[in-house]
Amino acid sequence: MAQHDVIVVGGGPGGSTAAWRLARAGLRPLLLDTAVFPRVKVCAGWVTPEALADAQVDPQKYPLTIQAFSACRFEFDGARTETCWRRPASYGILRREFDHYLLDRARAAGVDVREGARVTAVTEEADGVRVVSPHGTFTASVAIGAGGHRCPVAHALGEVSEHEEVVVAQESETRLSPQWIEALARWWDAPELYVEPDLKGYGWYFPKGDVLNVGVGCVSGPGADLPGRPSRAGSSPPKRSRRACGAAPPSRLTRPRSCAGTARARPAGSAGSSRGSPIRGRARSCGRS
Ligand SMILES: Cc1cc2nc3c(=O)[nH]c(=O)nc-3n(C[C@H](O)[C@H](O)[C@H](O)COP(=O)(O)OP(=O)(O)OC[C@H]3O[C@@H](n4cnc5c(N)ncnc54)[C@H](O)[C@@H]3O)c2cc1C
Repeated sequence: MAQHDVIVVGGGPGGSTAAWRLARAGLRPLLLDTAVFPRVKVCAGWVTPEALADAQVDPQKYPLTIQAFSACRFEFDGARTETCWRRPASYGILRREFDHYLLDRARAAGVDVREGARVTAVTEEADGVRVVSPHGTFTASVAIGAGGHRCPVAHALGEVSEHEEVVVAQESETRLSPQWIEALARWWDAPELYVEPDLKGYGWYFPKGDVLNVGVGCVSGPGADLPGRPSRAGSSPPKRSRRACGAAPPSRLTRPRSCAGTARARPAGSAGSSRGSPIRGRARSCGRS
């Protein structure tokens, strides 16, 4: 008999939340992830109330870094627009903390979590699914693929579109001193997005707690050239990031990092996008910068 009812491949928010729910429903899930948590995940860390509700995380009770936002600024082609809401429309979290918290929650609920366990093969058998990793070969009647861009379950079972586009990104997540946060106070109340002229990428500036996350991402392919993008966009996040990250003894949480992810990923809470959101915002033009 299989030791586990379900094998979850990938321990990001999708996999850990699915496993957590299954454990709470009385099943015995096994979760395998290549990484050892807390792991780096390139991401602005912008989550919507819907995404938090879906993961059953109460922002009031979340014990780690979190900042509520009731405003957001967009810049495109030199024009800036600010949208304000009457209550928090989004939150900023640190993915290395958030994902680890969700994984620990799953473990506490009884999920058999194996970190540093890269899945190398997934095969369909007559009586279920066989999953191979350095931690052993496991079988279960069901496997859940939550391995992100290179999910081995999706690849093995043929669920990857040939037309999938890849997003490449670079970011820096830096803890700032109180002096720097004070100096940046007028920009600390809202995240900013800088849509690039070719509409294939955007930069972001995202304060949360005492941490500033700045980054740029775009669809890969001709012109992707990440290092060149910020200067071509002529927007302020790179300058501001340099200003904020380069001085005043900030402690960088990790070195600047890059990633590739699928273009299905969207900013601003792709896991619970604003479509159909009950929250309505008020937009106003901030003039040209
Ligand atoms: C540049 C960028 C910025 C983004 N910003 C935001 C944002 O601000 N807000 C937002 O809501 N979303 C954002 N997203 C999207 C968000 O990151 C994803 O939607 C989210 O991470 C998906 O969660 P997941 O659990 O499905 O997968 P992931 O978080 O990608 O987790 C997948 C896990 O699977 C593991 N894994 C992979 N391969 C294997 C293997 N062979 N064996 C075992 N384990 C494996 C990995 O180690 C990883 O831990 C962004 C995406 C990108 C690319």
